[in-house]
Amino acid sequence: METMHTVCSECLREVDAAYVVEHEAVDIRGVSVEGEFKHLICPECGERIGQLDIAGRNLDKMYRAYREKLDIPQPEEIVALRKGYGFTQRVFAAILDIGVASLQRYEQGALASDSHAQLLRQARDPRFLRDRLRQGARKLSEEERAHALQAVTAQCSGRVDYAVIRFDVLDGMAHEESLETGMRAFDPDRLREVVAYLAAHVRDLYRTKLNKILFYLDFASYRDTGRGFTGLRYAKADFGPVPDQYELMMGALVDGAALALREQGEGQVVVARRGADLSSFTPDEVARLDAVCAFANTFETASALSEFSHQEPGWCETPTGSLIPYAYAEGLQWGGADGGPIAQP
Ligand SMILES: [Zn+2]
Repeated sequence: METMHTVCSECLREVDAAYVVEHEAVDIRGVSVEGEFKHLICPECGERIGQLDIAGRNLDKMYRAYREKLDIPQPEEIVALRKGYGFTQRVFAAILDIGVASLQRYEQGALASDSHAQLLRQARDPRFLRDRLRQGARKLSEEERAHALQAVTAQCSGRVDYAVIRFDVLDGMAHEESLETGMRAFDPDRLREVVAYLAAHVRDLYRTKLNKILFYLDFASYRDTGRGFTGLRYAKADFGPVPDQYELMMGALVDGAALALREQGEGQVVVARRGADLSSFTPDEVARLDAVCAFANTFETASALSEFSHQEPGWCETPTGSLIPYAYAEGLQWGGADGGPIAQP
């Protein structure tokens, strides 16, 4: 048994104390984490002997468990990320817009604040850093920014997404181009980028709101171009048009990596953890996305958009639970991106 000759901090006797490993649940910032923590136990009084290096090791272990639970990069991952891009601490901190001293502390094991933790998570994705560099990073000089942009852009292409989507689920619902899919084959990657874009540009993107926006995006696209936008099928639910099997689809798509859910008010809002990659979208398609975002933002509340969707002939005339045929796109209330009157809410 591993022991240590020391003075007990509780009974102050000189003892040979044994190390004991105990499984404990501890609370860190309101999050319960579990782990095996080592303590030095006094053989005389039975209390834990307070010792700085043991306390430090235990705290480090708790922080690690906390980060793991919340998917926050560990200190060595932060260092590896930064070095992977070839950034100094100053440059990396400037891109994330956090203090250099904070970044240094996180690399040495301090626990990041919630907002900084979110930035560190997002920093795993070079596209997020690219977007931030394009949008400013004003603490950097022009040369530094250009240099950094080159470094992250090099990592953007051909990269496997950290948001490893659960393809088994999405493939299970994948469908070929047909009248039901708006003559477009369903593509989960494309849908993920669409939703990431909507999350960044639509105010309070509640899940129910997202369903309707996708419906308008797809049906207007089909009406204007003869092809839907995402290849999703839509069904009539009591509260509006929804992507077919949307619970399954949302669960696979919003998996906490690229897309996550945040509790807000009485519902859940879809948030993007990184910028959308629209490199495979045409300018017309991007304009179409912007138009549907603007359309959605004209509604004060999610329920106003919901009520608007309840006037859609496709929704009114389809039996609950049945697929809404894309043929109804002709009578869509929203004018869409290609001109025509945009219906006022
Ligand atoms: Zn003691």
